[in-house]
Amino acid sequence: MAKRDFYDVLGVDRNASAEELKKAYRRKAKELHPDRNSENPDAEAQFKEVNEAYDALKDPDKKAAYDRYGHAAFDGGMGAGQGGRPGGFGGNADFASAFSDVFEDLFGDFVGGGRGNARSRATRGSDLRYNMRISLEEAYSGTRRTIRVPRLSECESCSGTGAEGGAEPVTCPTCSGMGKVRAQQGFFTVERTCPTCGGSGQIVKNPCKVCTGSGRVEKEASLSVNIPAGVETGTRIRLSGEGEAGLRGGPSGDLYIFVNVAEHQIFKRDDLTLHCRVPVSMARAALGGEVEVPTIDGGRSRVKVPAGSQSGRQMRLRGKGMPALRGGGQGDMLIELAVETPVNLTQRQKELLQEFEKLSAENNPESSGFFDKVKGFWDGMKG
Ligand SMILES: [Zn+2]
Ligand SMILES: [Zn+2]
Repeated sequence: MAKRDFYDVLGVDRNASAEELKKAYRRKAKELHPDRNSENPDAEAQFKEVNEAYDALKDPDKKAAYDRYGHAAFDGGMGAGQGGRPGGFGGNADFASAFSDVFEDLFGDFVGGGRGNARSRATRGSDLRYNMRISLEEAYSGTRRTIRVPRLSECESCSGTGAEGGAEPVTCPTCSGMGKVRAQQGFFTVERTCPTCGGSGQIVKNPCKVCTGSGRVEKEASLSVNIPAGVETGTRIRLSGEGEAGLRGGPSGDLYIFVNVAEHQIFKRDDLTLHCRVPVSMARAALGGEVEVPTIDGGRSRVKVPAGSQSGRQMRLRGKGMPALRGGGQGDMLIELAVETPVNLTQRQKELLQEFEKLSAENNPESSGFFDKVKGFWDGMKG
């Protein structure tokens, strides 16, 4: 099927002004709205045609080329991607995205008072990352911190437009607002970001002095952050909209707090369980008794040490571990006994221990088993 003339598609004559073209385009786009055309199987194709025609004719450079060469102006053999905005031209855009384009245009015109395609260039601000180091005690109880975040915020002087006095930016003359320029390189046409406008499609005639035309300024924000109980190293907390300001009316990015919980000098954390190594004297481990152990909430617990406890013996304190992040219980604390060999003995202590040693040949449960095995090992070597 031969391609229809773009002016015929829009139903205007060749001398139509930009304003008339836009009106005709809006009228056609509304007629072809999917809500009104559930019975019309050709609406999609017609809409694409209208979109393609307007996309070409609204651009002064393309319009001039079309007026001179007709459809041949755009049939450079490059096919896909030929033409302006990504997916807006060239016929390979899918229906849905083409439609969202046109309604973005319409919507933008209605509410933005003729900002044209400025709205479609709106860019979301970047997400920011903030590394926060907290203590294990803070991770246990939760905490509130005030942080200072240097970030790009909307320039108040120009309301984020980048233009002195808040004047509207104008279409970039280099790329006619497309944000991209095409250059022939041998057999290929390469598309690159427009050097004049940096891809935004717009330039500012009188750049705002405060932000030098960028529309954003670096400011330090002071934010109060709630750190819930149970966080651990690697937990991310998202503060929606607290990242960098968007460009040209785009939404702000988010701020992510990356939590890092410092090592504790007494407790070792394993998920919800807290481990604590508690030294006990040789005599107390043998005789039995009590030790006092610290708990992460700042309190203390008395723990019974059974007589004859060996080094490495574990005892569980229920509910004295870490809380689960989103509710749902509390871990335990595991105490591990470390039986200590005394050092720097006095003469008297040495004598007592020597006497004790003479009397205690049968009192070391691990030793007797061990030396039986050793004897068997040596006998085996001889055999
Ligand atoms: Zn440009
Ligand atoms: Zn400014």
